[in-house]
Amino acid sequence: MTDQYTFRNPVDQYRQEGMPEQHQEGPGLASELGPKPDHGEDTYRGSGRLTGRKALVTGADSGIGRATAIAFAREGADVVLNYLPEEQSDAEEVAQLVRDAGRTAVLHPADIAQESAARELVRAAVDELGGLDIVANIAGKQQYVEDLANLTTEQLDETFRTNVYALLWIVQEALPHLLAGSSIINTSSIQAYQPSPGLVDYASTKSAINTMSKALAQQLAPKGIRVNVVAPGPIWTPLQAAGGQPEEALPEFGQQTPLGRAGQPAELAPAYVFLASPESSYVSGETLSVNGGMPTP
Ligand code: NAD
Ligand code: MG
Repeated sequence: MTDQYTFRNPVDQYRQEGMPEQHQEGPGLASELGPKPDHGEDTYRGSGRLTGRKALVTGADSGIGRATAIAFAREGADVVLNYLPEEQSDAEEVAQLVRDAGRTAVLHPADIAQESAARELVRAAVDELGGLDIVANIAGKQQYVEDLANLTTEQLDETFRTNVYALLWIVQEALPHLLAGSSIINTSSIQAYQPSPGLVDYASTKSAINTMSKALAQQLAPKGIRVNVVAPGPIWTPLQAAGGQPEEALPEFGQQTPLGRAGQPAELAPAYVFLASPESSYVSGETLSVNGGMPTP
């Protein structure tokens, strides 16, 4: 069986054409995407890198969060899966994969754009897992709006609450429980460095996440808690088919990268595993780009 360690050419490792035009309402579902993304279901091979760890993963039902939850479990971690209630069917598939790996999966749907729900999520995670030592903030909201005149205050608010405020609420609530050695991993984007004209609000949240993480990393380092960031490029997930960009742009999706194709969620998971594991003990305040080779500052 091939796995993430199999030697091969990254250029043709996955579909090289763009993606077919399609549209989903709301946050979208992985089960409705065509072609099916690779979350590592059949390929991610664990080797005990997170044995006995306790992880909270937001956005864990689909895309990058799903791939990360699968990888964490196969590396030996128990996982609390957070997602929106309308994504229950996707989340149940992930929970089954976590259990198949012999680990505990706790399903916790909650809208983290609501402060009380975000804080309650952390308290529930600590209760259910008997502690917490990995916080992977992967949930995110991205809605393309071509003309600034149509960017509503409601969307601006939702995007910042989901991508920026929730992250701080979750970290604040988790801190009293995080022992030295714990790891916080946030999710930025290539959009932090090369913003699309129609993603004014989203791109701004992603650069805020980079900067916030560098500040937090310094504050928490003396406690032995590391804070790092993963910055994905164009990855095939529901976010992209649910208004993250114009439908007519999907046939070009990922074509602009030096590797010439979109990335798959499975290609992100090893970055989160590395940053969660003690093997990255001297890495903090870093942003690790996984973007098909696009230059970043
Ligand atoms: P995705 O749609 O699979 O995941 C996003 C998840 O965010 C959803 O599944 C949903 O569960 C969660 N979410 C959104 N609003 C929420 C809310 N209010 N409360 C709780 N959960 C909420 O898409 P993805 O691409 O895997 O996105 C994961 C992260 O990767 C996001 O932070 C996104 O900004 C980032 N990212 C994605 C790409 C890409 O090309 N797909 C590129 C750069 C960065
Ligand atoms: Mg989803």
